[in-house]
Amino acid sequence: MTSTTQPTDIAAAPIPTFAEIGLHPALLQAVLDTGYTIPTPIQAQAVPLAMAGQDVMGAAQTGTGKTAAFTLPILHRLMASANSSASPARHPVRALILTPTRELADQVAESVKRYSKLTPLRSTVVFGGVDINPQKEALRNGCEVLIATPGRLLDHVEQRNVNLSQVGILVLDEADRMLDMGFLPDLERIIRLLPTPRQTLLFSATFSNDIRKLGRTYLNSPIEIEVAGRNATADTVTQVAYAMSGDAKRAAVVHLVKSRGLKQVIVFSNTKIGTGRLARQLELDGVRAESIHGDKTQADRMKALEAFKAGELEVLVATDVAARGLDVAGVPCVINYDLPHSAEDYVHRIGRTGRAGALGEAISLFAPAEEKYLLDIEKLIKSSIVRGTLDIPSELLTRGASREESRPSRSSFGSERNGSSGSERSSSGRGSHGERAERSSRLSRYSAPAKPVDDFFTKPYQPSAASLAAAAQAPVTSVKKHSLLTKRPVGLLLGAVQKKSDSVTE
Ligand code: AMP
Repeated sequence: MTSTTQPTDIAAAPIPTFAEIGLHPALLQAVLDTGYTIPTPIQAQAVPLAMAGQDVMGAAQTGTGKTAAFTLPILHRLMASANSSASPARHPVRALILTPTRELADQVAESVKRYSKLTPLRSTVVFGGVDINPQKEALRNGCEVLIATPGRLLDHVEQRNVNLSQVGILVLDEADRMLDMGFLPDLERIIRLLPTPRQTLLFSATFSNDIRKLGRTYLNSPIEIEVAGRNATADTVTQVAYAMSGDAKRAAVVHLVKSRGLKQVIVFSNTKIGTGRLARQLELDGVRAESIHGDKTQADRMKALEAFKAGELEVLVATDVAARGLDVAGVPCVINYDLPHSAEDYVHRIGRTGRAGALGEAISLFAPAEEKYLLDIEKLIKSSIVRGTLDIPSELLTRGASREESRPSRSSFGSERNGSSGSERSSSGRGSHGERAERSSRLSRYSAPAKPVDDFFTKPYQPSAASLAAAAQAPVTSVKKHSLLTKRPVGLLLGAVQKKSDSVTE
């Protein structure tokens, strides 16, 4: 039976520096090299506890520095067994970090590499949607820290590419999202492969009842730490909502981006198809835009993200799943093109801006039918969102309307979570084929061509063979199968999880 203590309150105590926390010198130097001297609040609380081997449940909004909050103590503890031997056998997996999405796994892996650069510790990352063979090779070379998405890790386990029998530390990052995405059965399978006793750290943007149940089941007397109120939004983010018809939204995005010279804006759309289509329409309006969603190949997702991080795009149009956990410094603004149907997703979305104390703006565009979602959001964040008015130039509105007329209507949109989640075991190739080549000739013009560039923009959507094949084995379906077969108590306790991930469909 596990017990949970109340959140620690160290607010009144002065925040120690990284040097005062007692980090191993090689790690301290790497942290200082990044330019950080003062731990963020979640780091100040979690790092000393985790360094001491304590199980921790951390509730922290994205952008609070939670990655370093678990990475640094893990590396510190692993330094006791660090060695420079070339033999893979001397580098067994000792710490396992599980994340819900490929992008987050990749980002965590970058942090681990950055902070361990002056140590002989090895790390590697495995996630779905890319060739498994290089990952096999990396696992064969040995690594003390393994960062993984659950599905791909299980693939490696089944193929006997990895041995988890020496894992002494487990991290569940963005645990709430892993549950939302239906990964509980996979998590249970993985946890059963791990030795006990071990140290377990669980991080989650919010502490839902399901997360607490997960903590009670798999953590040992965890200490809970919470650095922002549950479901709170950062004070540094200004929020505003503009009412408008659905048809005016595209023009509104173009107007906001161009009139204010915005760069690196994330625009959230609820559907995969809507995401790709909006990015293409924005490009026709001279906005440098790319999309990122679960139907794109991993390589295309990475490319779009890199271009966005490098400041080459004005807009990244994203679905919730693809954008989850993205850490891009300096995102000045996020725009909700569609309001999320889950109010918690709103909190995650706007957490992409105003990160690490910077100022940010969250703009929501809502059609009359979406107002109910706005009210749900206000209820969750316990504050009202200012309603503003936006004067959109009429020529932008007319341009969008004439383009809509020339586009055949589509009967249905694919939802991010309805098909491939984009995080696991699917690598459908639909999406960006041909987009990139066209893009370069259309960039940076604030005037639309008289006609669409080619019939790609006017043809009805037709899924590719690869996309259909991937849909046939979509992860949500396979998770459902797991869930039905999994009759263990915690699976039942957390049964609501599956319901939630099923509910988001378009
Ligand atoms: P995370 O919440 O882990 O995604 O981190 C959010 C951002 O804060 C990342 O860009 C980190 O590099 C940055 N960060 C992490 N720790 C610190 C720190 N102690 N001081 C300043 N920035 C930090």
